[in-house]
Amino acid sequence: MAFTKKTVRDIDVAGKKVLMRVDFNVPLKDGVVTDDTRVRAAIPTIKYLKDNGAAIILMSHLGRPAGTGFEAAYTLRPAAEKLAELTGYDVKFIEDTYGDEAAKACADLKPGEILVLENVRFLKAEKKNDPEVAKKLASYADIFVLDAFGTAHRAQGSVVGPAAFIPAVAGFLLEKEVDTLTSIFAEPARPFVAVVGGSKVSSKIGVLDHLIDSADTLIIGGGMAYTFFLAKGYSVGKSLQEPDWIERAGEMLKKAEEKGCQILLPIDNVCADHFGEDAEGVVFDSDKIPDDMMGMDIGPKTTELYCDAVKKAATVFWNGPMGVFEIDQFAKGTEAVARAIADSDCTSIIGGGDSVAAINKFGLADKMSWISTGGGASMELVEGKALPGVEALLDA
Ligand code: ADP
Ligand code: MG
Repeated sequence: MAFTKKTVRDIDVAGKKVLMRVDFNVPLKDGVVTDDTRVRAAIPTIKYLKDNGAAIILMSHLGRPAGTGFEAAYTLRPAAEKLAELTGYDVKFIEDTYGDEAAKACADLKPGEILVLENVRFLKAEKKNDPEVAKKLASYADIFVLDAFGTAHRAQGSVVGPAAFIPAVAGFLLEKEVDTLTSIFAEPARPFVAVVGGSKVSSKIGVLDHLIDSADTLIIGGGMAYTFFLAKGYSVGKSLQEPDWIERAGEMLKKAEEKGCQILLPIDNVCADHFGEDAEGVVFDSDKIPDDMMGMDIGPKTTELYCDAVKKAATVFWNGPMGVFEIDQFAKGTEAVARAIADSDCTSIIGGGDSVAAINKFGLADKMSWISTGGGASMELVEGKALPGVEALLDA
């Protein structure tokens, strides 16, 4: 599916002031950026705007400040410094967002120059999507660019606000994320195999529901598998389970059958008598989990079955680990499935914070076709929802 909104390519930016909402919500330790993925992801659009003669004003949130003014722990200065380091560009930073100082710095900005404003969440107005604040931000520039995919699902001031006052278009990251995560539903190369795991069915029900409509095979692993087992009448011992969701899980299985989507559930499981690093893993078939044990990972027979299924796929979408991958001895199922995806020629799309952490832990990131930079936003797209930030942009 082609992206249906205007992008920076569709608009003349030469000599214009461009206000761009990026996602520089980076992890910090002692004032140093510990993972620069999000800063890197914004560089192609920044470079394009600079090369095409725009003056670039960047804004973002970082963390969860109280919204009552400046807090040193959440300043965007380290992110601005990281951008300068990664690009070699001269990047200006101003400790102001909505005040006269920010307005003056924006007014003085020349074509090709880059200015980073302070954290938009230092005022509560951001989260409240206060139109006065949006108007103020829009007054800094001629054009608004949204490239903050990670917050595009939030109808907040700096994400959706300026679009009401100045022409608003997408940056390259936003375009690529939305295009990739929606095209798997529109026209996936088949077979399309979806792999869904993680802890809870309740948090993934919308994802499962939408994937069943589109995928040829849906592989289920992780803690959520046990609620499906309960729906099938198995007992699951002390495994993670959501009794209130058994009925919905059963409905999913029925819907999949009706839609011709094959569902694969674990046939064996690595179980332990308690949750912890020191727990000993013992394998049980899915209908024979003892009352005093809990499932921690998919078992060896399941791992083989799942790897075979992903090897045959032309498209794989993966969200949610197959087991408690944070503990090495229960990471084997997740790692094996991740390697099978990495080693195959399929188009592989990975979404979800913990899934991305798992892929990084195994050093397989380079072998995947696309790793989404947005946890919540990517899940909303996979649920089939529209993102407010994208909706607000000009139609192509
Ligand atoms: P993502 O962030 O990729 O969407 P989730 O947040 O849904 O993934 O789930 C990740 C969590 O699920 C991990 O912390 C992992 O330990 C947990 N998990 C996976 N399998 C199990 C299991 N069998 N029992 C308990 N927790 C599990
Ligand atoms: Mg998670």
